Amino acid sequence: MGNWLVNHWFSAAVIAAWLGINIFLFTYYFLFFDRDERYFYTREILGSALAWARASAKCLNFNSMLILLPVCRNLLSFLRGTCSCCRRTLRKQLDHNLTFHKLVAYTLALFTAVHTIAHLFNLERYNRSQQATDGSLAAVVSKLHLQSNKWLNPIHSNRTTPEYMAFTTIPGLTGVIITLALILMVTSSTEFIRRNYFEVFWYTHHLFIIYFAGLVIHGIAGLVRGQTEESMEEAHPRHCAQYLTDKDCRHRCCKETEFGSIPAESWKWVLAPVLLYIFERILRVWRARQKVVVTKVIMHPSRVLELQMQKKGFHMEVGQYIFVNCPTVSLLEWHPFTLTSAPEEDYFSIHIRAAGDWTESVIDTFQQQKPEMPRIEVDGPFGTASEDVFQYEVAMLVGAGIGVTPFASILKSIWYKFQHADQALKTKKIYFYWLCRDTGAFAWFNDLLASLEQKMAESGKADFLTYRLFLTGWDTSIANNAALNFDTATDTVTGLRHKTIFGRPMWNTEFSAVATAHPRSVVGVFLCGPEALAKSLQKSCHQHSSLDPRKVQFYFNKENF
Ligand SMILES: Cc1cc2nc3c(=O)[nH]c(=O)nc-3n(C[C@H](O)[C@H](O)[C@H](O)COP(=O)(O)OP(=O)(O)OC[C@H]3O[C@@H](n4cnc5c(N)ncnc54)[C@H](O)[C@@H]3O)c2cc1C
Repeated sequence: MGNWLVNHWFSAAVIAAWLGINIFLFTYYFLFFDRDERYFYTREILGSALAWARASAKCLNFNSMLILLPVCRNLLSFLRGTCSCCRRTLRKQLDHNLTFHKLVAYTLALFTAVHTIAHLFNLERYNRSQQATDGSLAAVVSKLHLQSNKWLNPIHSNRTTPEYMAFTTIPGLTGVIITLALILMVTSSTEFIRRNYFEVFWYTHHLFIIYFAGLVIHGIAGLVRGQTEESMEEAHPRHCAQYLTDKDCRHRCCKETEFGSIPAESWKWVLAPVLLYIFERILRVWRARQKVVVTKVIMHPSRVLELQMQKKGFHMEVGQYIFVNCPTVSLLEWHPFTLTSAPEEDYFSIHIRAAGDWTESVIDTFQQQKPEMPRIEVDGPFGTASEDVFQYEVAMLVGAGIGVTPFASILKSIWYKFQHADQALKTKKIYFYWLCRDTGAFAWFNDLLASLEQKMAESGKADFLTYRLFLTGWDTSIANNAALNFDTATDTVTGLRHKTIFGRPMWNTEFSAVATAHPRSVVGVFLCGPEALAKSLQKSCHQHSSLDPRKVQFYFNKENF
């Protein structure tokens, strides 16, 4: 538990605050609509479904206000930049933006279900009270003021059905539309759809425009009503309710009860985040329109394309990523790629691995060597967890396959820092682990590792970087070759000084070794790789962090492709 807290206390606090506000809003407004005397007659018709519908509506507003914030990439980058002086725990939270976005989305789905079911009951009960001829209080108040605007029951005729109300009134129709939009967005965001049909997920997610437009106008018709303040003073339900069902005394004993709508308020909740998001999108379009010059195109083994580019005013930090659009391939699709260049270089670069139709087409387009270089548009850079590597004294960098890209940038930057004898470098030791399925992949960054190895040895800091390359897929010819050349100075697979290890890393052994070598350090563990690997690294971080804050602590940071 103690170890878990080292890595998660701030996330837990944020979730607890968010959950607390949801519980507070729901409970407070449930009790309010269940007890407030202005809704005495409304409750007479609707029963507790009124409180269920209104309390869930408040939580829907609150969560709709939050849902866009975690996907404002520029806002997050800005916060990350301005928080650079803050504790890394705070900055680390910004990497959980998508987890929080999903959590809020599922909560929206839950409250939408509660709200919709409650309103289905409400429609049925409004209809039943309108049709009732039994002289009950619900039936009497349902028939008040049908010719003026002071009515309580929105169903004014015996011929109106709940279905008619659901599809012809503003709240009914917008309710149906935004519920459908939400269902489509949530169902198309499953891991399966995102991994296999990303475009379906991406385009469907833009139904959020309809969702917010519908939400803003959903309440403007004000169909759910309560007694007006003036009417409460003149005909308080505590005194007058009993006379309403009394035909002889009804008009004599009390003034006529009048009703008014609850003002629409969703727009007040969502206006600021929607404006922020619109600004974010305009900024993206503006930035994307600035000219990008592709200065070099390199084709690496295993169908990996490296693009080196320049753009006026482009500034990057290590480990950041950009969104790339290639209009020749698709006008609308933007794909994220981590920068593999160092901030010290006069260009920025990305490595694109063929993963699907878009990346395949981009690689083919650049391989065709047309007289004119295909155009590239770039949005970004945006921050990720890897930016924080230099905040730690000791860092463990774990890259799987193409997940090595953020670390390439970091390692290059270190190379430059060593060249310029940068005294401000806080990091004292880096452990770099790279797991690859095939040997071709190692060729991407061999040159970089080889020159780093040489530079560190020359500057007497050979110990600064320990790297371990793991080959997780191999055939007998590779294994035999390695066995035959076991005692050569360089590795047969990579040509580097460190020998390639066949198989997967034993994380417990690796973490124990790091903990023993740095018993009083704060170690940043950075992963760019699959979820399964993230789980085992996270577990190792918990297991090997000491409960004593003066002793070794492992902080886990993850970037997912
Ligand atoms: C922050 C980040 C950094 C990345 N850095 C690199 C990198 O340096 N090098 C590299 O080769 N790959 C990187 N990727 C992955 C790269 O974005 C996808 O491989 C690429 O978008 C695949 O597109 P596709 O249409 O060819 O393949 P598809 O078959 O459409 O998708 C293959 C996989 O990529 C994901 N994907 C597809 N489109 C997008 C998108 N627009 N945004 C996010 N994910 C998408 C899908 O979920 C799927 O799992 C990165 C991804 C992220 C999120």
